[in-house]
Amino acid sequence: QKTMDLSLGKVKIEIGNKIISEDPVFFAGPCSVEDLDTMRNIARNLKSLGVDILRGGAFKPRTSPYDFQGLKGEGLEILRVIKKEFQMVISTEILDVRDIEKAKDVVDIIQIGSRNMYNYVLLEEVGKLGKPVILKRGFSATVNEWVSAAEYILNTGNDQVILCERGIRTFETTTRNTLDLNSVAYLKKNSRLPVIVDPSHGTGVRDLVKPMALAGIMAGADGLLIETHVDPDKACSDSQQTIDIHTLEEIMHHTNEIWRLR
Ligand code: PEP
Ligand code: MN
Repeated sequence: QKTMDLSLGKVKIEIGNKIISEDPVFFAGPCSVEDLDTMRNIARNLKSLGVDILRGGAFKPRTSPYDFQGLKGEGLEILRVIKKEFQMVISTEILDVRDIEKAKDVVDIIQIGSRNMYNYVLLEEVGKLGKPVILKRGFSATVNEWVSAAEYILNTGNDQVILCERGIRTFETTTRNTLDLNSVAYLKKNSRLPVIVDPSHGTGVRDLVKPMALAGIMAGADGLLIETHVDPDKACSDSQQTIDIHTLEEIMHHTNEIWRLR
């Protein structure tokens, strides 16, 4: 059986003017792209903090079909405007192979969501674009299944894969998911791929985002993906886990302080 060759050295991914693993990378923005003015306000604030990548979902994989499903094409157009106006690197989720064509010139870093980790056709089609891909862990996937999913992308000849630990489903119901930081420490020792942590979906609780973000960094994460909004209570989706700009600033500051202690 073919497995990832661990002897090849770490995969090098450049994001803006940073190389992942040399400096912490920050992916931040709202759960969903909401409207142009809100997105402008968020982008302006994040850019001034030095956030590397602006994230925001245009296509939203919601548990209930009656919940807000994202602005879809209109959301992509908002991201296109913001990208040009603020010169930011854009990351957004692609849910369906049929959306690749419309999304490909807007999105710089493609996100594959937890629900689609096992969608191997999507992984291959997205991999072929040759752009960096954030592969979120399926919420019931073992580390081995997650790494195997990454190999579908690597096998297209694209080694620009960033693994994102976003919490798994356990018997615990106090929090939305259980953020598995074992996986982060394990993968940093046993995989060539960079790993980031999403403490927003990992906890589902706004007040837990900062401590778990910093715990993720100490576990060895190369960066953080955090749902952030100028007015978290008004966020269209995942408001209960969305933090404000000031809290993100604190997280970034502390991350830079502890980065070299690992
Ligand atoms: C997201 O990051 O917007 C998202 C939907 O996350 P996940 O796929 O981890 O649930
Ligand atoms: Mn979300």
